Amino acid sequence: MKVVIVGGGVMGTAIACELAQSKLDVTVLERSIPGAEASTAAAGMLAPQLEAQAPGPMLELSMRSRGLYPSWAKTLAAESGVDVAYLESGALQLGYSDAHAHELEATVAWQQAAGLRASLLTGAEVRALEPNAAPEIEAAAHFPDDHQVDPKKLMQALSLAAAKRGVTFKTGYVRGLLQTSGKVDGVDLDGEALKADLTIVAAGSWSSLIPGAAIDPKHLKPARGQMVELVLRLPPVKHILKAGLGYVVPRADGHVICGTTVELAGYDKRVTAEGLSTVLAQATRACPMLKDATVEHFWAGLRPWTEDALPMLGPGSQPGLLIASGHYRNGILLAPITAKLVGQLVRGERTSIDLAPFRPQRFG
Ligand SMILES: Cc1cc2nc3c(=O)[nH]c(=O)nc-3n(C[C@H](O)[C@H](O)[C@H](O)COP(=O)(O)OP(=O)(O)OC[C@H]3O[C@@H](n4cnc5c(N)ncnc54)[C@H](O)[C@@H]3O)c2cc1C
Repeated sequence: MKVVIVGGGVMGTAIACELAQSKLDVTVLERSIPGAEASTAAAGMLAPQLEAQAPGPMLELSMRSRGLYPSWAKTLAAESGVDVAYLESGALQLGYSDAHAHELEATVAWQQAAGLRASLLTGAEVRALEPNAAPEIEAAAHFPDDHQVDPKKLMQALSLAAAKRGVTFKTGYVRGLLQTSGKVDGVDLDGEALKADLTIVAAGSWSSLIPGAAIDPKHLKPARGQMVELVLRLPPVKHILKAGLGYVVPRADGHVICGTTVELAGYDKRVTAEGLSTVLAQATRACPMLKDATVEHFWAGLRPWTEDALPMLGPGSQPGLLIASGHYRNGILLAPITAKLVGQLVRGERTSIDLAPFRPQRFG
């Protein structure tokens, strides 16, 4: 069976890796290089508890994926020779006022009731754990099982492992899907027909621009996130720190990834003065020591946003088509479970998670 995957981001490459294990003939079609877009712009937080607002299908999907990470990271490192820097850092959601502290208390309560490890810390307890965290922190929710990976290393490892498993990578622009008698049977790659038994659209924010994929740009569009990388001689904190949209992700080597903004600004990847100043203000508020850090790098990436913040995962509008897109803020986290579920769909197995909430056609 011949499978073509449109998009060589974390989704397309992880799915390719999974399908190659089932001895399928898999080709990834990428207009640039693997990981050129959102997948290497990401911070790499594997943090379903930090992200979740309430129990539900997204939390279940995210928790299952987080659970797969330790062995996935090990397998990828063994096959590729690239360590993906999976780091069990834990995470702290910070509150700067009494009102924030009450919100965090409620978050910890529902997460504990859902059986997740979470606890509420006072400001003094936060500073005992993280002496360089801001003195103005009133309270924090501690999520000891939310961790991180380095997305650039992950993309390197994934594409090497995929190639070793026999996946073909082709550079080219997919202009649209080929359709014969109500079935998708391949793609138009730079004006040439590339036939396939199954076509998987995993083109991130661009999925809704692919003619024939039948994804309405109203329901899937880019959400820009601006980022700054700082460097200190030593990591200033051990945990991921987050408050509102602002976060600080400390790598083991003293590099600190700071985010972010969420802007529905179209396909515009500019870093703006306002974006940069917002990101830096958030980061230095959480960890004032960062004011003296060196600015190494700044960039922006486009997250595939969906109207209900759930991915689009499952059969497309016609036979021969699968969609794996719309992972919005959590695509790095959700890559292993997405690959596994697509593998189950392709092999005709029952999926280990109910995909109904993620149906690509759910918006009508
Ligand atoms: C600033 C930022 C921070 C983030 N932080 C985190 C985080 O901490 N944790 C987390 O889990 N997630 C995070 N995310 C989200 C995560 O990065 C995305 O959800 C994920 O990378 C989406 O992967 P993807 O493969 O679907 O899309 P992409 O990585 O965007 O890949 C899509 C690929 O398709 C290619 N393509 C598009 N159209 C075509 C075409 N017509 N023909 C050929 N190729 C095409 C593109 O070149 C691209 O390489 C973050 C995202 C951003 C932007």
